[in-house]
Amino acid sequence: MKKVLITGANKGIGFEMARQLARKGYYIYMGTRDLKNGSEAVKKLQEEGINSVEAIQLDVTDAGSVMSAREQIGRKTDVLDILINNAGINGIEFEGDKPLMHTALGTGIAKYKEVYEVNVFGVIRTTQAFIDLLQKSPEPRIVNVSSSQGSLTLHSDPSYKYYHAKGAVYQSSKSALNMYTIALAFELRDTNFKVNAVSPPSTATDFNHHLGTSSVEVGAEHILRYAIMDNDGPTGRFFCLDNNPESGEIPW
Ligand code: NAP
Repeated sequence: MKKVLITGANKGIGFEMARQLARKGYYIYMGTRDLKNGSEAVKKLQEEGINSVEAIQLDVTDAGSVMSAREQIGRKTDVLDILINNAGINGIEFEGDKPLMHTALGTGIAKYKEVYEVNVFGVIRTTQAFIDLLQKSPEPRIVNVSSSQGSLTLHSDPSYKYYHAKGAVYQSSKSALNMYTIALAFELRDTNFKVNAVSPPSTATDFNHHLGTSSVEVGAEHILRYAIMDNDGPTGRFFCLDNNPESGEIPW
């Protein structure tokens, strides 16, 4: 049975990915910042008859927590096949249903640090901690859950549907994550690793006060396509099926 670690799997798209992968016959370590929430998420899946899941405390901003998760998982398995770096925040406050946009001139460094700590440094920390277990898989996959809004090319195009949504903090964190993905894929280019950045469509979750337009089922399915592909699949690329329904690939 192939083993998967998903960060931020206690709710939202991460939770739904755990459900869909478990139904396909994978074993899922569900990373969760708060173990109580993770245990409740596991219980919910167990009530649906899904038993190949377990919660692992994992706060991607906390080196001790990531190390402890690595040790726990290492005691349970010698091999990890798939890492989905899903945990993410946008740091946006809402006024009713209206998101308060982070501007390039008006938003202080503390907000950038808060968001980058999860979306960028958290991914690097988790990837480096689990790389040795992934290297033992014959078909290792890393999916960095990004956002099409991190695309520099799209955001420079006035016809892009989110052209006017220039949230300087979240978007730039995903651009940084994208470059990390390129560097990581390059470093692993002569191996069986497939490393890609994948954006779900706009998905209704707590992340956006449920204002997203797709369901978690669709969002999870889009991302998982790049987690379970075979050795012919692409690496070092950026995908968002919502922006390009044909090939899925979008520009960096
Ligand atoms: P969500 O429902 O808010 O879930 C986010 C998950 O990340 C939660 O499990 C949360 O845990 C976890 N998380 C936050 N900080 C963490 C930390 N320090 N350590 C570990 N886990 C942490 O959001 P979502 O919509 O499912 O988003 C999942 C991913 O998709 C994110 O990377 C997001 O940027 C990306 N994305 C979402 C959309 C969208 O429309 N929803 C669009 C493009 C990209 P807690 O419950 O403990 O907070």
